[in-house]
Amino acid sequence: MPSITKSIELAMKAGANSDVRRECAEFLDAASQFYKAPACSIRVLAARPLRVREHWATELFGDYTPETMLIRAWMRTAIRKEVTSFGTFLSALCHEFCHYLDYQKFGFHDSWHTRGFYERAAVLYDYVRWTPPKKLFWVPTSGECWRIDWPRTNRSSCNRSIISTLVRTFAEDWAASEPDQEESPLNLEVARTAKKVAKAVSKNLRVTPVAKGIVRAIGKKAAIKLRPKEVEETVAAALKEVVKDTVKTATREAVQSAVEEAAKIGSSAE
Ligand SMILES: [Zn+2]
Repeated sequence: MPSITKSIELAMKAGANSDVRRECAEFLDAASQFYKAPACSIRVLAARPLRVREHWATELFGDYTPETMLIRAWMRTAIRKEVTSFGTFLSALCHEFCHYLDYQKFGFHDSWHTRGFYERAAVLYDYVRWTPPKKLFWVPTSGECWRIDWPRTNRSSCNRSIISTLVRTFAEDWAASEPDQEESPLNLEVARTAKKVAKAVSKNLRVTPVAKGIVRAIGKKAAIKLRPKEVEETVAAALKEVVKDTVKTATREAVQSAVEEAAKIGSSAE
């Protein structure tokens, strides 16, 4: 593996897309064989397409589409056309390959960015680059999300039993990826109410200023023609996170007060 990895690096330095693609394909063949997974295909693009599936919009240098079993990786950023470093490119390739493994090898119904997922991607990356495996340190962020504490991770030289960690993370991810339970009448009622709320929220959403800002930002940085569909997708992706957080906070507060109220009624009736 490390020798194939080296070939990707050399091909990237030479700068020819087709060579990089060939080496990446060889890399993925070897990795798939190792994991006894079916073959997976790769497309290497010069720059990131602006139109990226919303679900994967956060990926900077690659994506994976489960339906076609195709990994795409790009050597340059979309807007500023900057060349990615080899380390970043390889790490994106490992990351997308791990999405592929989640679906094709482990049979998950979905491939989430869990801590286990990042652990698996890091193990693969360290192995193919011949760097010593690292213990990842985590810090909680908003909601129930975690991010890797890179300064701490890079400082730490301690090793641990990687296999046992991986086994645990598989078990966790497997449980988390189980399909949703049957729709009960209660769930249906909750969904109906939630839909009403979503409709009300979207009516009051002021999207125009955001859209204008994004059009301005894209227009400034690149001499590309703006396509409405692409701008629409960028705006949607930008809004998604903000709306999600806002709704989460509002929901927490609403549920808290509703539960408190119900408790009050309950205690006065006794
Ligand atoms: Zn991902």
